[in-house]
Amino acid sequence: MCAGGRALLWAGRRAGWGAMPRGRRSISLLSLFTPSPPESAAHGAGRRAPQVLVRPDDLFHPLSKSPVKEMREKGLLIQANGSCATCVDETAATGQAATRAAEFECPDCGYPTHCSEEHWARDTGHRKELCGFLREANEDEHDLRSGRTLREFEFPSAQLAEVVVNLSSWDTFLYTRSFTNVTSSRAMRHVSKVLTYPVTIGAALHQFSPFNLKTGLTLEGLKSLTALRTTVKEHEMARSDKELAMQQMPLRVFVLGARAEAMLPPHLYLQLAYLLPNSPIHIYFVGPECIPTAEETRSTIVVSSRLALKYHKSFFHDAIWHFAPFDPFTDIFFLFSPGIGHPEARAGWQPTVEKLLETKCAVFATGFHERDMSCDVDALTEDFGDKMDWLLKPRENPFASQKRDFGIRNLREWAISNWGIYAIRGKRYEVQSKS
Ligand SMILES: [Zn+2]
Ligand SMILES: [Zn+2]
Repeated sequence: MCAGGRALLWAGRRAGWGAMPRGRRSISLLSLFTPSPPESAAHGAGRRAPQVLVRPDDLFHPLSKSPVKEMREKGLLIQANGSCATCVDETAATGQAATRAAEFECPDCGYPTHCSEEHWARDTGHRKELCGFLREANEDEHDLRSGRTLREFEFPSAQLAEVVVNLSSWDTFLYTRSFTNVTSSRAMRHVSKVLTYPVTIGAALHQFSPFNLKTGLTLEGLKSLTALRTTVKEHEMARSDKELAMQQMPLRVFVLGARAEAMLPPHLYLQLAYLLPNSPIHIYFVGPECIPTAEETRSTIVVSSRLALKYHKSFFHDAIWHFAPFDPFTDIFFLFSPGIGHPEARAGWQPTVEKLLETKCAVFATGFHERDMSCDVDALTEDFGDKMDWLLKPRENPFASQKRDFGIRNLREWAISNWGIYAIRGKRYEVQSKS
């Protein structure tokens, strides 16, 4: 069952096929790559060394008093759009509409959470369950915009052939891939929020995938992933086999309903290429919002000799003839937190899922949290249960973002990018001989 009141901000992602409802946004990744310029720089000429606005040992600031302009603006946005949590509870309990704006800032997390100090004091749930996470988010956001050099985003390049990548968890991945600048849990949260996309894809395709028969992969799933890994193996053999090299087809990774993941700096996807060092990879971002500019409908970015990113601003089911035919040996689909079960998006996703199942290729999908994922899974089972096979049973994703994101309208609504993961494929009917 979908919970009724959870729509709000995250619905932007879910309603990816329709017009973007006003005031709804997806998880923003911009802050990671656009540190706030010092306010004085607007008046100065030329480029200056970034000024440190917030010291690493003094990251917490109430949003209204933040030295960072974007954080003050965020506070105002929450005040304008959010509601007092205690008022919301009381309105629900009494049925009377008396919900006031969140103008009082919690002194512990610095977010505008309630209409008054009295209502804040009454909300024990806030302090018990939410405040600590909001405080962490407050400090993380200030750190990203502090103006310091974000060394954790200096990523390692190609893997040494003799070092085997361990994909059991973030820790083993970062260690075996030599991410030497990720030295704190805060840095881990920053980095995992963006790497969750390429590394989740890599984890599915890699020969040492964490998704195996012991962790929820089904026999059908093993067949699908083995087909893809056969292609990866051929790419490896093609290095020393000219004939094979002439015939090799790239891996095609389709990311449907793409939004935040399509806005990442392209070089981040090199981390996927380094996991599959011999494979040519084409990543197709498909969806009405995968290209930010209004005019553009298609583009290609060649990131390296083996990696190209292609953007198609359209619905997959409308653009399918650009990509057909499909081959389960080279093609794989990813739907990052698609919200297939969300009431506003469900009908929009149906023709796409229909086509996806026809391709007989593996389709991986993720969810923001348990409720989000089960909502999607329930809808898929209801709408397509007899047409699909499970490849990977719903489970937590070892390469989920480590960061919690909060809704502007309702701070109780949080989301974690790619928290959970599962995979399906169109049913393959065995040919039966007539007796
Ligand atoms: Zn109130
Ligand atoms: Zn608080």
